Amino acid sequence: MNNKKNDLIAGMNCGDVSDHLSDYYDGDIPEELCSKIEQHVESCTDCYAVFNTFNKTIELYKEEAEGVKVSDDARHRLHTVLHLEDLLKDH
Ligand SMILES: [Zn+2]
Repeated sequence: MNNKKNDLIAGMNCGDVSDHLSDYYDGDIPEELCSKIEQHVESCTDCYAVFNTFNKTIELYKEEAEGVKVSDDARHRLHTVLHLEDLLKDH
């Protein structure tokens, strides 16, 4: 039996990551937890896809989107996690 959803990556499963997703973007969680989420996302294709989709939403709507509040720090971290550093350099 191989149930990927229950795999722990960096001490978190996918449910833990999605639970903390909005806090992550708010920049409202401890550094240690941020690092764990980032380690998980870099090793988990499912969560990587979720982050990537969320990132595109942010880039598309930026500050105009109501209810989407992302700190600059979180945005920068997100780009690093998704290996989109080149995107930041262009701006
Ligand atoms: Zn995951």
